[in-house]
Amino acid sequence: MKILIKGGRLIDPANSIDDQLDVLIENGCVAAVGTNLDSDNAQVLDATNRLVVPGLIDVHVHLREPGYEYKEDIQSGTRAAVAGGFTSVACMPNTDPVNDNKTVTSYICQKAAEVGLATVFPVGAITKGLKGESLSEMGQLREAGCVAVTDDGRPVDDGEIMRRAMEYARSFDLPVISHAEDLAIVGGGVMNDGFVATELGLKGIPWVAEDAMVARDVMLAEFTGARLHVAHVSTRGAVEIIRAAQKRGVAVTAEVTPHHFTLTEEAVRGYDTNAKMNPPLRSADDVAAIRQGLADGTIGVIATDHAPHHRDEKNVEFNIAMNGIVGLETALPLTLRLVEEGVLSLSEAIARLTCGPAQALNLSRGSLTVGSIADVTVIDPECAWKLEAEELLSKSKNTPFDGWSLKGKATNTLVRGKIVYNSDEV
Ligand SMILES: [Zn+2]
Repeated sequence: MKILIKGGRLIDPANSIDDQLDVLIENGCVAAVGTNLDSDNAQVLDATNRLVVPGLIDVHVHLREPGYEYKEDIQSGTRAAVAGGFTSVACMPNTDPVNDNKTVTSYICQKAAEVGLATVFPVGAITKGLKGESLSEMGQLREAGCVAVTDDGRPVDDGEIMRRAMEYARSFDLPVISHAEDLAIVGGGVMNDGFVATELGLKGIPWVAEDAMVARDVMLAEFTGARLHVAHVSTRGAVEIIRAAQKRGVAVTAEVTPHHFTLTEEAVRGYDTNAKMNPPLRSADDVAAIRQGLADGTIGVIATDHAPHHRDEKNVEFNIAMNGIVGLETALPLTLRLVEEGVLSLSEAIARLTCGPAQALNLSRGSLTVGSIADVTVIDPECAWKLEAEELLSKSKNTPFDGWSLKGKATNTLVRGKIVYNSDEV
């Protein structure tokens, strides 16, 4: 089976390519990249006026299976992924049962392979049951297919346990993903601490709850030599701590979500529970710092933290609503807005969604190098569309972007050389 993607603007930041080039795919791999490639008995995919990029990678997704299939499952989640242009997703371990052992990891890998849409890279738990008490069997997790470890959704409170976790993870070359918040400082906070919280009468979460934990984890990474990846950075201070650590050679990478670089705490006005997340939407000053961090490369990864919740879990009083929003189908256009606004070049934007995440979790993806696995996303950058939450392919519809006018859409998504999404056929 041969596919020739013809006439597109190929952007492959890993190889510093931005040029009018064809891509030939054969046997699931990139067979050739060049001009006027021979289309002999190949299926031709016309990419005129389209961008052709390495398949997008999302390193922070909650697929909710096993245990919470009423919110999302591996099938619906990976379908939403490929519709959003993502060919690979890393799924967080806070399922039921928790992915803290090889049985759960194997189940996820097997189910994802059966579904056959996006490639799923499971992330295992740092501690058993996400309880923060005893370390999981990281060697077994790695063997079963886990690419990193995290207790995402919760920090590892105890600094000594986090230190041991990093030493242990390092021996298996597993990156440790930090969910950085000091729960004692968070207290009962439900949104960013500040003027808006005061006006709304909601308890705030101050920025120092995040900065303090990012600082601890960066220092532990420096001390242990572990590879650290900081999830969903939301504060100016966190960006500054990470930037300084990278300058002195600490192995730390970081991600930011589209909602944290697009929205501020103002979105909470009206008590919209679709603006409730953890970490919370921050101040305009924090958003400016995050954008600066993306621009200078301190933050090399854009990740969605795709967090599906049933409407009954959001359609409640702000204080008790669940945290998080879905993001797989809105990440690409929201990232392309950063290009329109002059924050990132187009190539930088694509890098934050491809080689950046691949490098952070050491995944053999993220480029269109000849011989590599043919994960490819074709994008219509001019496609203007209106987001209707009800039309999302995710089982859950919790998005603060309902009704937004967006620009840019994946038109074809190829995983291992197979077309798994075609926008014309939806
Ligand atoms: Zn998460």
